[in-house]
Amino acid sequence: MSQGTASKVGLLAFLVAAIAAFFIFDLGAYLTLDSLKARQSDLATLLDNRPLVIIGGFFLIYVAATALSLPGAAILTLAAGAIFGLWLGTLIVSFASAIGASLAFLSSRTILRDWVKARFGKRVEAIDRGIAKDGVFYLLTLRLIPAFPFFLINLAMGLTRMRLATFYVVSQIGMLPGTIVYVNAGTQLAAIDSTGDILSPALIGSFVLLGLFPLIAKWVIGLIKRRRIYRNHQRPRRFDRNLVVIGAGAGGLVTAYIAAAVRAKVTLVEAGKMGGDCLNYGCVPSKALIRSARLAHDMRHADEFGLASAAPSVDFTAVMARVRKVIATIAPADSVERYTELGVDVRLGHARIVDPWTVEITDRNGGKQRLTTRAIVIAAGAEPFVPKIPGLEDAGFLTSDTMWDALEARNTVPGRLVIVGGGPIGTEMAQAFARLGAGVSLVEAGPRILPNEDEEVSEFIADTLRREGVDIRVGHEAVRCEGKSLIVKNGDAETAIAFDDIIVAVGRKARLTGYGLEDLGIETGKTVVVDETLKTLYPNIFAVGDVAGPYQFTHFAAHQAWFAAVNALFGRFRTFRADYTVIPWTTFTDPEVAHVGHTVATATAANIAHEIVRYDLGHLDRAVAEGANRGFVTVLVKPGKDKILGVTIVAAQAGELLAEFVLAMKHGLGLNKILGTIHAYPTMAEANKYAAGEWKKANQPEKLLRWVERYHRWRRK
Ligand SMILES: Cc1cc2nc3c(=O)[nH]c(=O)nc-3n(C[C@H](O)[C@H](O)[C@H](O)COP(=O)(O)OP(=O)(O)OC[C@H]3O[C@@H](n4cnc5c(N)ncnc54)[C@H](O)[C@@H]3O)c2cc1C
Repeated sequence: MSQGTASKVGLLAFLVAAIAAFFIFDLGAYLTLDSLKARQSDLATLLDNRPLVIIGGFFLIYVAATALSLPGAAILTLAAGAIFGLWLGTLIVSFASAIGASLAFLSSRTILRDWVKARFGKRVEAIDRGIAKDGVFYLLTLRLIPAFPFFLINLAMGLTRMRLATFYVVSQIGMLPGTIVYVNAGTQLAAIDSTGDILSPALIGSFVLLGLFPLIAKWVIGLIKRRRIYRNHQRPRRFDRNLVVIGAGAGGLVTAYIAAAVRAKVTLVEAGKMGGDCLNYGCVPSKALIRSARLAHDMRHADEFGLASAAPSVDFTAVMARVRKVIATIAPADSVERYTELGVDVRLGHARIVDPWTVEITDRNGGKQRLTTRAIVIAAGAEPFVPKIPGLEDAGFLTSDTMWDALEARNTVPGRLVIVGGGPIGTEMAQAFARLGAGVSLVEAGPRILPNEDEEVSEFIADTLRREGVDIRVGHEAVRCEGKSLIVKNGDAETAIAFDDIIVAVGRKARLTGYGLEDLGIETGKTVVVDETLKTLYPNIFAVGDVAGPYQFTHFAAHQAWFAAVNALFGRFRTFRADYTVIPWTTFTDPEVAHVGHTVATATAANIAHEIVRYDLGHLDRAVAEGANRGFVTVLVKPGKDKILGVTIVAAQAGELLAEFVLAMKHGLGLNKILGTIHAYPTMAEANKYAAGEWKKANQPEKLLRWVERYHRWRRK
């Protein structure tokens, strides 16, 4: 055994023995309020007679308790007040606690640091870098706001590279205010001689201070934090605007709408098209295309309804013209005119954040204007992620951003279409284009399409698409393009898929560069980093929608927008935390896939106990009449309860059916309530009630029913 290891083992053995002795001899019994009160007068006498022994003894006990991370430090601190009074008590505790904490810090460092470093090397390095930069501030915050037990802070800090001297000084300073408050409360404890004393103003005041201390400390820390963040920026004396919103997609439009509704002076800046991705390149055109595709599909299968089937003659120019028309019909709701009328100052141009209170707008003629503002909401959205696939660029690939314009210029459906990416966008488009007559190959590197849904759902939709002629290649990685062929790899085997057009739909990345985030040091990962109130690093700059994540949906962006707008404008009075517990989504394949809450996979991963209730649409009257009885409803329920944990619906109009479950989950209504609600007959929505019925059947009170059966038998006699 090396000398280092021997000393580590020795130290560990000593610590274990000391802690064991504490519990074996039940020394904790001395560290209670009752015991303290019982010995108070003896201690006072001893202090008069042998002050140095008592002070020294108390000091050593305090150091030992803290160094060994034993419980009872709070009682000891109160005891210091009771025995020594405010000033002497504070002096003793302040030094004893800082020395004890430093010993615990050293023990943890000696025994554990090397092991932790070896095990979590990269993460430890990152933490060390953070500690080198902001460690003093973090430690001070942790000391001032006792959100975590101090003994954990001592041990955790020992694992970092913080210097011992720094740890000691910051700990002593950081713990001082709390020490004073506790010791002061202890001095009042000493004054309790009768029950009447409990209500003395001094005692009540001390304990109010004890309760208020964390709040005051939090406020002070907040103030220091704000000062630190803004220290390199000159705050304007007055502001042109209350709010500037960057981006007029779902997130930005709703933010600006709310701001104008509460009479704030708000500017909305849009560099591209009003309405953002959803209106121009996303939800709206894709759903319009899907509608034409569904009609083509129905025409092919008209014989199932007693009409002559027809091979649809697809006028692709007309299909795309309809897509444009749908966009144009919805566009006025998101237009400059409408928002101007609502009281929003709309600017078409590129916004750049110059400093935390200034946004520079470059208009479409190159003219620049700077606006000062109290708050900023970033709603800059996301753009298609294009992986580095050799030859892709030369093959002239399309994305959701470019495909609508590119396809509008064609008069025929792409003959052979490859779609890379089996997520919702890729899957929706694959089915739509196949129904319109394209030969579609859907290439997905993962083991299944729609990976965010349960496996059964992925299989169901893959099976549906295959039946409609889509060539689905899961587990196939796109490796390169050779001319108009995509080479895909499955294991070691490479295959070429010839195409006329290739659409890349492997995901969308947040827009994070080119408008000032980098210069201001606003933290980004895959998205802009925001807290639960949607604040970025700067408390007056917020982010919503695709740029902030974690979900990329129009309704999610709009949901966040309310929180960002209200927090940006009224945060000084009260801030609201965005709630992501009930977020629904729909994939608009046919049948649709609609989901809210947990899937089986997420519930299992999170260790959440659940039961699965399933209702198959095979016998739902309306579904049968519609020829749409392939599908199911699955509900995840808390075992033995009717509490809904998650729902997946695979059905025609599943997105509409889901709304009832979303409402139920949001407002804590269980399956019993859905079962007790009248659903019009014959509707698809009855599926929800029948799913609740399946749960009821599976949870029948069998014992009670046996007694009821006996009762009926008796009544027949
Ligand atoms: C094909 C497809 C289908 C989809 N289908 C659905 C669906 O069915 N349901 C659903 O909920 N979601 C769907 N989505 C996702 C949905 O479109 C997005 O989640 C939504 O648009 C996000 O809104 P946002 O406001 O965050 O961003 P965006 O709508 O992207 O808006 C951001 C805007 O910011 C502007 N901007 C960026 N930087 C600047 C700057 N510096 N200055 C000024 N302006 C700037 C951009 O030009 C853009 O207009 C789909 C997406 C795609 C691509």
